[in-house]
Amino acid sequence: MNNNGKVYILGAGPGDVSLLTLKGKKIISQADCIIYDRLINNNILKFCKKGAELIYLGKKNTEGGFIQNEINKLLVEKAKEGKNIARVKGGDPFVFGRGGEEIEELIANNIDFEIVPGITSSISVPTYSGIPVTHRGIARSFHIFTGHTMADGVWHDFSVIAKLEGTLVFLMGIKNLSIIVNDLIKNGKNPKTPVAIIENGCFTTQRITEGTLENIVKKAQESKIKPPAITIIGDVVEFRNQFKWFEKKELFGKRVMVTRDNQQAMEMIEKIEELGGQGKSLPFISIQDNIEKIPELQEYKGILFNSPNGVEKFMDKLDDIRKIAHLKIGVVGDKTCKMLEKYKIVPDFMPKEYTIDKLAEKVVEFTEENDKILMVTSDISPENCQEYGKKYNRVFEKMVAYNTKKIKYDKLTVEKELKEVDIITFLSSSAVDGFMESIEFDNEILKGLKIASIGPVTSKKIRDYGLDVDYEAKKYNIQGVIDSIK
Ligand code: SAH
Repeated sequence: MNNNGKVYILGAGPGDVSLLTLKGKKIISQADCIIYDRLINNNILKFCKKGAELIYLGKKNTEGGFIQNEINKLLVEKAKEGKNIARVKGGDPFVFGRGGEEIEELIANNIDFEIVPGITSSISVPTYSGIPVTHRGIARSFHIFTGHTMADGVWHDFSVIAKLEGTLVFLMGIKNLSIIVNDLIKNGKNPKTPVAIIENGCFTTQRITEGTLENIVKKAQESKIKPPAITIIGDVVEFRNQFKWFEKKELFGKRVMVTRDNQQAMEMIEKIEELGGQGKSLPFISIQDNIEKIPELQEYKGILFNSPNGVEKFMDKLDDIRKIAHLKIGVVGDKTCKMLEKYKIVPDFMPKEYTIDKLAEKVVEFTEENDKILMVTSDISPENCQEYGKKYNRVFEKMVAYNTKKIKYDKLTVEKELKEVDIITFLSSSAVDGFMESIEFDNEILKGLKIASIGPVTSKKIRDYGLDVDYEAKKYNIQGVIDSIK
């Protein structure tokens, strides 16, 4: 027995986060240290536990791999610190993933390991382009090659490859594309054989160049193809005309920045990615608990919640659910409603319009004059208890369930992140503030970017800073924001 940690050599699949396996997700969420390469979708890292150490290694590890030794050493070093490590690779660890070399090093150092297969890009990238690697009557096999020459210059035997009747798939084949194509034609492959090159497959930036063996090199040059890309050669490529689906999604090609707190960003990113877009999280607010003690609820006649967070924080502190049995309960928005339902509570009412003002108006129908009503909100909710009190002859009291704290970054960081998105979304005014302070109120940075807002209050804030709102949600929730972008 030793105190070494365990290493999980784990394939994360290509581009689309949801192609990560359940097992992969579980291991990533429990690992102390994550060592990942450039082929994975970085949103996978959102599954990590708090405080996990994240190490990016591998800019070059698919291009010949001079840093492979360093990776091997690092795995051993971290495991010897007693850490459980997820070594997260794009696709499958054994399909040109150099997983074997890492495992040999672990064995040599007596370190325990497990291997988790992943969905390899060699089949899933064609799938996301609408190309089946096999098809009845068309391709009865498929063959996966590296397009790299070995360090000693040894190349595949193309006299054999050219005779294969199945689909040919080349990974890492961009640099040597013309050699591959020439060698195939020279050895008798029909020059009219269809070819597709797929860059950034399964990402929303996926791009496909189609041609035949005789013209693909020229086309590839024209479209300035960059790795990572897969070259697929064979008649199956033609199915793409009928089978393509990913590119038809409503948000395909759209890169969307999510500025809400990290905990909740994932839900929005998932929705964006379901529609073929790419979500990127850069939180400008964080949420912190604020309830020390729940007041004596017997005095109140109604309770109002205007966010799922409010429900959650309140319930965390409530010791006995029966203490709210006598209260009339109102909520803003279906998300808040759903959160309550988790606690097996059905609210008495939910105004059609998702604002706190409407909530205060509606509670009148459920209470009597001078009744006390508790409003569970955040520190920045736009309610006005005094005004409601006068208007509706009730006593409204506010309880701040959580504080939203602005997060600030330096301008350069934000600028860099913005270069990688097309749309920026704001789900609260405070996120707008945090954002604007971070970019030092330099609106120029936002040129060419579209701005989406969750509703009129947030939109006003955005406009107050002199910016335009391109999309405003009709329903004031995440889905509403996404619908407005669609
Ligand atoms: N283990 C990986 C492959 C690593 S080799 C797997 O199973 O998928 C790296 C090569 O994989 C790249 O050069 C490219 O040819 C291919 N590749 C990986 N991800 C890709 C993606 N999202 N789109 C296109 N090609 C990809």
